Amino acid sequence: MKSISSDAAGWRWDHSYVSLPGLMFERSRPVPVREPGLAIFNVRLAAELGLDAEEILRGGAARIFAGNEIPEGADPIAQAYAGHQFGHFTGLGDGRAILLGEHVTPDGKRYDIQLKGSGRTAYSRGGDGRAALGPMLREYIISEAMHALGIPTTRSLAVATTGEAVMRSETLPGAVLTRVAASHIRVGTFQWAAAHEDHAALLALADYTRQRHFPEIPENDSRHFAFFEAVLDRQASLIAKWLHVGFIHGVMNTDNMALSGESIDYGPCAFMDAYDPATVFSSIDRHGRYAYGQQPSIARWNLARLAEAMLPLLDKDSKTAVDLANEALGSFEGRFQAYWLHGMRNKLGLRTAHADDAMLVQEFLDLMQANHMDFTQSFRALSHAEAIKECPFPHGDLLAWHGRWRDRLDKEKSELSEIARHMKSHNPAVIPRNHKVEEALAAATDHGDLEVMHRLLAALANPFNDEAPLEYTAPPPPSERVYQTFCGT
Ligand code: AMP
Ligand code: MG
Repeated sequence: MKSISSDAAGWRWDHSYVSLPGLMFERSRPVPVREPGLAIFNVRLAAELGLDAEEILRGGAARIFAGNEIPEGADPIAQAYAGHQFGHFTGLGDGRAILLGEHVTPDGKRYDIQLKGSGRTAYSRGGDGRAALGPMLREYIISEAMHALGIPTTRSLAVATTGEAVMRSETLPGAVLTRVAASHIRVGTFQWAAAHEDHAALLALADYTRQRHFPEIPENDSRHFAFFEAVLDRQASLIAKWLHVGFIHGVMNTDNMALSGESIDYGPCAFMDAYDPATVFSSIDRHGRYAYGQQPSIARWNLARLAEAMLPLLDKDSKTAVDLANEALGSFEGRFQAYWLHGMRNKLGLRTAHADDAMLVQEFLDLMQANHMDFTQSFRALSHAEAIKECPFPHGDLLAWHGRWRDRLDKEKSELSEIARHMKSHNPAVIPRNHKVEEALAAATDHGDLEVMHRLLAALANPFNDEAPLEYTAPPPPSERVYQTFCGT
C-alpha cells in the first residue's frame, strides 16, 4: 500500500477515480470567485475526518472552500455521468461541481471532497456552474440532520459565499458547498459508460465501484451480479429509512442515486408533517412521480436502469443477462418490505416478529392519514410509558387500535419503561421541518443572520432528545405550513 502524507491541515489526498478511463471525467478547476467568505464550517465533521479545524480556519478556509485556492495534493476533476431526469434520458456530468479528490482519513476511510457551485465545467451545458446560498445552506442543514437521524448520507463540511450574484428567477447571493461523500458514483455514472458503448470503461467502473464500496464481494465471474444485488439491497434499506422518518427526496432521478447507498443531492427535498403517502413538495414534480409513497417503486425503476447499463457484464449471453437482472430486481420488493417492517416494528416498540405486525402498522398509518395527524409527533407521542398505558389520542378508532397495540406489546414481555426507551431511540422528536428550515434560510439569505440556522442545527444534531424546544418538535401552525419547495439551483 502506498503511504499518504498529510499536510498541516490534515488533508490526506489520494486519487483513485482518475485511474478510470478518460471517458469518465475531465480535469477541471474551480473558477475563482470575487470575494470568498465562510458562511459555515462543520468543525465536528472536520474532526471526524481527521482534519485540524483550527489550522484550516487559520489557513484561509474561505479561499479553499470557495475554490479560489486548491489544497496542495488535490487533483481536481469534473465527473461524467448521464441520467434519467423525470424519466427522460440525458447526458449530464458535473456541470457545477468539482471533485478535489479523495481524502483518506487516518483510519483509512476514503471520502470524496467535492465543491458544488464552483463554476462552469465541460459538462455545464447552458448553465452558469454556480449555486445560490439558500439551496447550499439547505443541503447543509438536511444532510447533517439525516446523519444525526442515523440515515446514510453525504455530509456537508462548509458553505462559502462568493460575493457574486447568481441569476435565477430573481438575483440571489452565490455560494459553494463542500460535500463529503463515500463517493459520487451514481446510477447515471454507469448509464454514461453504457450509453457510450465503451465496454472497457463499463467494466473498469464496475470493478472499481465494487472494490470501493463492497470489498467483501469475492473476485470471481459472478462478481458483477453480486455487486448489483448488493447495490439493490442498500437502496432497499435506504428508502425504508427515508420512509421511517417521513423524508421525501423530491428528485430521485438516476443521476441522484448513489451506488454507495448514501442519500445524495438535496434539492427540493422535504419532511412530511401530516401523514399522507401522496405528499409531494417539489415545485418541479408536477405529476407526483417522486411522492413519499412512490419512492420504493421509483428506486426499483432506477435500479432497472442500472441493470440495463450493466447487462453486458452480467452475462455474455444477453438472454441469461436479462434473466439475472430480473431475478435480482424481483427481490427488491421483498427486501424493501423486510427493512421497512423491521424499522416500523422498532417505531412501535416491537423487537420480536409476529404475523400480524404489518397489519397493525398499516392500521396506525391509515388512521393517521384519515385524521390528518402529524407523522413524527404521532409516533413520538406513543413513545412514553404513560402513552403506552393510556391512549394519547382522542379519537375512538385510535383508542381501539391502541388496545390492539397494547395486546401485541404484551407478547414482548418487556417493561413499559424499556419499550418506551426503545421507541424513543427510533422515533425522532426533532426533524428539519420545512417551516423551520425556511425560517433559518430566510434569516441567513435576507438578513445575513446565521444565528437562527445555528440554533436549528443544534436541535437537529440531537433528534431523539426529550428536552428539545417545542418550536422544533411542533408541527407548523396553519399560517406557517410550507406547501412547495423549490430547487432554486
Ligand atoms: P441537480 O439538479 O443538481 O441534480 O443537477 C442536474 C444536472 O444539472 C447536473 O448535471 C448538474 O451538474 C447540472 N446543473 C445544475 N445546475 C447547474 C448550473 N447552474 N450550471 C451548470 N450545470 C448545472
Ligand atoms: Mg444531481
